[in-house]
Amino acid sequence: MGAAAAPGVAGRPLPAAAGAGTASAASAPAVARRVDGPIDVAPGLAFGSGGVEALDWPALRAAVENCRACALCNSRRHTVFGVGNERAHWMIVGEAPGEQEDLRGEPFVGPAGQLLEAMLQALGLTRESAPAERQVFIANTLKCRPPRNRNPAPEELAQCEPYLQRQLALVQPRVILAMGRFAVQSLLRSTLPIGKLRGQVHSYQGIPLVVTYHPAYLLRNPVDKARAWDDLCLAAEVMEQQQRQGASPP
Ligand code: URA
Repeated sequence: MGAAAAPGVAGRPLPAAAGAGTASAASAPAVARRVDGPIDVAPGLAFGSGGVEALDWPALRAAVENCRACALCNSRRHTVFGVGNERAHWMIVGEAPGEQEDLRGEPFVGPAGQLLEAMLQALGLTRESAPAERQVFIANTLKCRPPRNRNPAPEELAQCEPYLQRQLALVQPRVILAMGRFAVQSLLRSTLPIGKLRGQVHSYQGIPLVVTYHPAYLLRNPVDKARAWDDLCLAAEVMEQQQRQGASPP
């Protein structure tokens, strides 16, 4: 992965938007709700007619912290809500917490996180406190660690999905970077391999979405780092194009 300088992304024509995503998050309602107790039914059903999509940031944090909608709540040490600027221009979506993340309650703090850090730095981005155009928001498809880092199960993804959808609706990023197949499955409803989906600009609820390899995969397959770099450059191009057009967030 390249170092500090932001990539030169000018000059490359932006590929046409491909296959709009079909995810179904509702737009944020005007009235936000509070959550106090544990949730042991599906998050989508646990908040009355408003559902998770009615929650503001503090209520959403509390909902995740208290969630008991799937069995992962029994083995987790911490829920991993996500970190970053609540109006970040860039939103990074990963898979699920690993051991370090479960211990600390923060996403991407283990070895994959170190690689993600380098990727962000190369784009001039950070997870540390910074203005919305520089500080990303990082979230996972699952908020709890699957035991022994096994793959997320379909029912776990389904239960957790409303939380990610609500985070996306609250952040309203200008570009989404979907890292790995579970992020892609959740956001694009696609089971195609990453290799088939990368290299084009997708759409989630009208927000441009770029697919790339998961950092943990890249640690095992460093040969694909060059492709991942191309993906980051594509996402940076999307952002530059939006800025040139003076785009306001959707
Ligand atoms: N892998 C992920 O997808 N997310 C994390 O938070 C850590 C590792």
